[in-house]
Amino acid sequence: MSDPGSRAAELRELIEEANHRYYVLDDPSVDDLVYDDWMLELQALEGRHPDLLTPDSPTQRVGGRPLAGFAEVVHREPMLSLANARGADELADWYRRAREVIEAEGLSDRDLRFVVEPKIDGLAISLIYEDGIFTQGATRGDGVVGEDVTHNLRTIKAIPIRLRTAPENSPALVEVRGEVYLPLEAFGELNARRAADGLPTFANPRNSAAGSLRQLDPALAAERPLSIWCYGLGATDGLDLATHTEVLEWLRSAGFRVNPEITTEPTIEDAASAAARWEERRGEVDYDIDGAVVKVDSLELQNRMGSVGRAPRWAVAYKFAPTTATTKLRDIMVNVGRTGALVPFANLEPVQVGGVTVSMATLHNQEDIARKGLRIGDTVIVQRAGDVIPQVVGPVTQDRDGSEREFVMPTHCPSCGTELVQPEGEVQFRCPNGSCPAQALQHLFHFTQRSAMDIEGLGEKTLMKFNELGLVEDVADIYDLHTRREELIELEGFKETSVANLLSGIEASTKVPWPRVLFALGIRHVGEVTAEAISDVLPSLDALLAADEAQIAAADGVGPTVAASIADYLAVDANRELLERLRAAGLQVAVERPEGAADLPKPLAGCTVVLTGGLDAFTRDQAKRAVIAAGGKVTSSVSRKTSFVVAGRDSGSKLEKAEKLGVTVLDEGGLVEALAHGFTPPG
Ligand code: NAD
Repeated sequence: MSDPGSRAAELRELIEEANHRYYVLDDPSVDDLVYDDWMLELQALEGRHPDLLTPDSPTQRVGGRPLAGFAEVVHREPMLSLANARGADELADWYRRAREVIEAEGLSDRDLRFVVEPKIDGLAISLIYEDGIFTQGATRGDGVVGEDVTHNLRTIKAIPIRLRTAPENSPALVEVRGEVYLPLEAFGELNARRAADGLPTFANPRNSAAGSLRQLDPALAAERPLSIWCYGLGATDGLDLATHTEVLEWLRSAGFRVNPEITTEPTIEDAASAAARWEERRGEVDYDIDGAVVKVDSLELQNRMGSVGRAPRWAVAYKFAPTTATTKLRDIMVNVGRTGALVPFANLEPVQVGGVTVSMATLHNQEDIARKGLRIGDTVIVQRAGDVIPQVVGPVTQDRDGSEREFVMPTHCPSCGTELVQPEGEVQFRCPNGSCPAQALQHLFHFTQRSAMDIEGLGEKTLMKFNELGLVEDVADIYDLHTRREELIELEGFKETSVANLLSGIEASTKVPWPRVLFALGIRHVGEVTAEAISDVLPSLDALLAADEAQIAAADGVGPTVAASIADYLAVDANRELLERLRAAGLQVAVERPEGAADLPKPLAGCTVVLTGGLDAFTRDQAKRAVIAAGGKVTSSVSRKTSFVVAGRDSGSKLEKAEKLGVTVLDEGGLVEALAHGFTPPG
């Protein structure tokens, strides 16, 4: 064991290096948990040996030095960090210490109330308003000196350029503090784009927000749909407020975005429950939160309590279970997808991440593995952002001992042994064997899923079992299962009633409309919307079989790639036979048009609609179908051609894009109205 002095020096060095990578380069080199452990160990060492505590210790300082290239801004009041409480017990400890301070100061705790806010995983910034006008914006930097990012902040629409207060009520000076963040949807899109362009992906939403705001070119910052939640004030002149609740109300009235779900709580127990509620809800919101902040409400008490080291005493961050963790990459294996694409995935030593056990994560393709520099046997950082599927961020290279192995993509399909091909211009390898058993199984999963044939009682496990026993080899076999009722009842885990339910679920699926049957077939590039579009032009299986590529391509939104893919599918005899077996089984093979349906009104004919956020009366799928049934088209991204955007709960970047482009935004009531009576564009 090293002596405390040299261990402290070693920890300082490790933390300084990690700080530089995290705060200055927006490219963390170690997992947050490792970093937090170093910090705790250093704090404990300094606590036991006060002579080791130096004013420049990372335990006493915030963040990192400003990046060269930006002008420096000296904050009028330091921008501090927050002390952490991991769990309810540590929150109770914080409360006890806060009370001790109050008692030592001879103050009464009569007015001790708390405000509970989400802790946004973004980038702290300060906004200066002089006589009501936004004059300067800066990053937190090292808490004393930040970077002047005024130009980039001006591109964020949620930041008012002028306060909404009447000029005579504008304070001479006010410094607003808040957190700039990238909505999760935009974070996902940005990373997917960067991966496609061969650029390194951002480790988490915080780094992506920091990287976007600290672009030297404001035009680049403007391309990223950054937003902000405001949560406090720094220096002020001409404002007289008594509580943090009043501060938030003032911010709202002056035009700032303040989270509507922040609450004021009468006791610490209520505050703890409010913080725990945020933990439960973290997956529901469109921004990443890594904790809840509990703040003393009275500004006078805040003042008296002051700060210690790098954090105020009057606030604490109640940290949630981390969404990143480190674990061992046991192996890299390869899955064969429905269309034959080989997708590598990580086989991980099971680890808890954000409350769930993760033992697998996709690795997309071999280029992704190479870019991340992963080796089998590595210790790796695993992350879940919001409710997004787990991903492997990268290796912890300093943990390597030389036994790690490079991943080599197999040359033959792991399921059927056929030699793999890599079509030109594609990063993915494919198994070209149309009767590859692994692909067949994926086809079965796709066919039965809820948005396709929606066959109750025929989940993945059951399908795997039936497939193994030779009961179901292709999708048409599903409709022969009724002839094997006795055999099914004999199977382990099945009884008369479960078999009866399964068979009636299969029978019910014969009523699924033709466009969904077409989608369920799993033809490459034919998604739900494309299947609907094709059925508008070619409304039956017979029409499709008789059509040539050009006729298929005539459907709205169907390009030559899709048309060629359908033509290729129909050219294979085995596929035609399968379609005939499905027809014979009684599946819908034509769009059913009720008498006079052609004359039914199509109130949204010609409209292009984008749906975002949660609705109350519809699932996303139902809303989409309702728009299509009304003659409209649903697309996933907002452009000037979009007729209107329907924004539900927690709408993210799409809403912001619509506002930016001046596209009409409707709420759920507006959608219902448009479905019934159509939509008239403004102006
Ligand atoms: P922090 O992010 O844990 O907490 C303080 C910050 O919270 C504030 O400065 C503010 O930006 C933000 N915040 C969000 N919502 C807020 C609200 N409602 N009210 C007040 N503040 C709010 O502290 P930090 O000093 O920025 O960073 C420390 C953490 O960063 C560590 O715990 C560690 O996990 C991580 N870190 C990791 C590395 C690494 O290499 N992996 C390096 C440095 C820091």
